Amino acid sequence: MTHQLPLIILNELDYSYPNGTVALRKINLNIYRGELVGIMGMNGAGKTTLIRTLNGLIRPSKGTVNIESENIEPKGIGELSKIVGLIFQNPQHQIFSNTVEEEIEFSLKSLNLNKEEVRDKTVEVLKTFNLEKYQDRSPLNLSGGESKKLAIASIICRDPKILVFDEPTLGQDGKEISFFTNLLKEEREKGKTILIVTHNIEFAMEFIPRTILMANGKIIADGPTKKILTNQYLVEKSSLVLPQTRQFALKLRDIGIECPDDIFSKVEMKDFLANYLKTKITEA
Ligand code: ADP
Repeated sequence: MTHQLPLIILNELDYSYPNGTVALRKINLNIYRGELVGIMGMNGAGKTTLIRTLNGLIRPSKGTVNIESENIEPKGIGELSKIVGLIFQNPQHQIFSNTVEEEIEFSLKSLNLNKEEVRDKTVEVLKTFNLEKYQDRSPLNLSGGESKKLAIASIICRDPKILVFDEPTLGQDGKEISFFTNLLKEEREKGKTILIVTHNIEFAMEFIPRTILMANGKIIADGPTKKILTNQYLVEKSSLVLPQTRQFALKLRDIGIECPDDIFSKVEMKDFLANYLKTKITEA
């Protein structure tokens, strides 16, 4: 059996901000190639600080970040950002060009591409993200959803191995979320490793296989999302709420309907209820 080494290894990471706020405490974490991992927890838990250590925006006070078996300490942000693409929660913090097209071109410039390749790639990316019609527009005049798309496009066009999203579904409508979930699927098929900071429990239950829960600068749980987010103790400790199907299952139990623990999706719940009612009607 081949033994796969983790792609990312965080070893005993501590971080305090210059004002003395302790944001990370002895973080140990292994992420394997091709994984899709959610990072959840209440505001101030340390999620944003943690993801910023991955591309050198934050350098740990203690401990090491290893990516592809190399300590990233000597590497600059420019070099790291070719491997780790971090997509900010607020696109305005990331976008600074005069037009949508220039934003993509600028992002591609630090790669070793000639002018023509940059041109072709820009056209391709604008098309993939349905942004062609806005190519000459200022990024400041895009809707929230469109500017989020541009922020994602400007990182993904560089093809980093590791993608890190901070609250990608925040403020997105149904169509935008399904565009995003499709994108996740495609990037995973390309073998990308993806980390997502999110408060969106229903989204995590449906799309994210592994979840890390953080509180007070520490990782308090790490495991299958369905197990973690249906654990009432952990969910309350993290100021989250149980997924809707789980809440519904507990209500059913309150009225004497024994709903199994392994029902997670709405479809599974619908099937369970349909079967239950059928049995009841046959019995009557
Ligand atoms: P989360 O992303 O989970 O909301 P953060 O990583 O942003 O948490 O914050 C972790 C802790 O660090 C919090 O106590 C927060 O107030 C503090 N913090 C975040 N950014 C700064 C900063 N620039 N200076 C000082 N303290 C900060």
